[in-house]
Amino acid sequence: MVAVLGFEMVTCYILDQSRRRSKLSLLKLAAEFEYAAKHDALTGLANRREALEQLDIEYQRYLRNARSFSVMLMDIDLFKSVNDNYGHHVGDELIILVARTLREQCRKVDTLARWGGEEYLVLLPETTTEEAMSSANRIREAFAAKSVNTEQSQVQATISVGVASIRGSESIDRLLQRADEALYRAKSEGRNRVCGYENEAAA
Ligand code: GH3
Ligand code: MG
Ligand code: MG
Repeated sequence: MVAVLGFEMVTCYILDQSRRRSKLSLLKLAAEFEYAAKHDALTGLANRREALEQLDIEYQRYLRNARSFSVMLMDIDLFKSVNDNYGHHVGDELIILVARTLREQCRKVDTLARWGGEEYLVLLPETTTEEAMSSANRIREAFAAKSVNTEQSQVQATISVGVASIRGSESIDRLLQRADEALYRAKSEGRNRVCGYENEAAA
């Protein structure tokens, strides 16, 4: 009788432990899936979907209490030639280097995202255009001072940045469109520079 009871207790304990273990591994798996759904695999930055989610959260906050925020859209300059001259893997290293620079230069509250191939979006809560532009210039300079070391050479690149701040009752799409226009201007004015949306006063 004692032996049977003991056997049952041990069996229950083992079953309980194994259930607990599979529950833990399921939870771990779920957390890994959630992380993968929100992050870019190459850089570990937020992906575009997560950036849009954070933009929406910040936008709702803006509608509630008029706390303004800014966005930066940045793009590596003449990146195709890096891929062509040094290979795709060096291009990838440069993409990672921008991400590292963003982590070093931005605040904890900022959302850092890989927006596309070699494009990034930074969301800066409670930040004016002037503050965002000076922060973008700091990032631009910090990145320009870094390099990827290959066996033959040190590969350097620059970035161009467009900045815009939310205003009035405009939509997020319109805000992003303005940041993109500013980025386009930074490119057409010679690259390796930061431009704000030109016509800030206009609706
Ligand atoms: P611009 O200064 O006008 O931006 O010139 P650009 O050469 O950088 O032009 P563009 O921004 O159009 O180039 C994007 C290139 O980035 C094209 C594509 O082959 C490359 N690319 C996109 N995603 C990746 C990636 O994940 N890794 C690498 N190595 N290259 C990528
Ligand atoms: Mg691009
Ligand atoms: Mg580019």
